[in-house]
Amino acid sequence: MKELEEKIRREGQVRPGNILKVDSFLNHQMDIDFINEMGKEFKRLFSDRPINKILTIEASGIGIACITAQYFHVPVVFAKKSYSINLDGSLYSTKIQSFTHNRVYDVIVSKKYLTPNDHVLIIDDFLANGCAVNGLIELIGEAGATLEGVGICIEKGFQDGGSKLRASGVNLHSLAIIDSMSDNDVIFRSQDE
Ligand code: 5GP
Repeated sequence: MKELEEKIRREGQVRPGNILKVDSFLNHQMDIDFINEMGKEFKRLFSDRPINKILTIEASGIGIACITAQYFHVPVVFAKKSYSINLDGSLYSTKIQSFTHNRVYDVIVSKKYLTPNDHVLIIDDFLANGCAVNGLIELIGEAGATLEGVGICIEKGFQDGGSKLRASGVNLHSLAIIDSMSDNDVIFRSQDE
């Protein structure tokens, strides 16, 4: 999505540790008109799939997931990061290594909100090593639900999460894929869709 690439070039800040900050429009202040355009684009890319639920992970995926869900007219479920899980049989759970916080979270979803009848689109803001998306895929597997696709705003293509997901046959679309980034420039992979 050209508009996203331009916005990242204009407003993104590259931080040590391969972190891209996009706090001006996605991760702190949220540019709703712009996020709306990303939501529409996800609808276009996944319109051939029978999606009845969107799954994301708190906190930064929730905004883009909710806006996208307005175009699919489906509920959003966000996996919760939990500090003390009480595994009483009512939850699906997995562990996810956080790229930005350098720690492992227990992540849970209630069995009430993810079931074998669900056809799920995963939406998240970033894809780096794939830990977050793989954890969500694990929860979908535990529930016996069907993964219909994964929609990512910004994929860091120099980390291997995206290539591994595509190699395993996941229907993954990223609105912008970064091949390399430095203080001075961000280089995007060309996409023809
Ligand atoms: P992964 O689990 O694929 O390694 O990393 C993806 C998760 O880490 C996303 O949910 C996102 O919140 C966070 N993340 C990874 N890389 C970046 C980055 O460069 N900038 C920001 N703001 N978040 C990132």
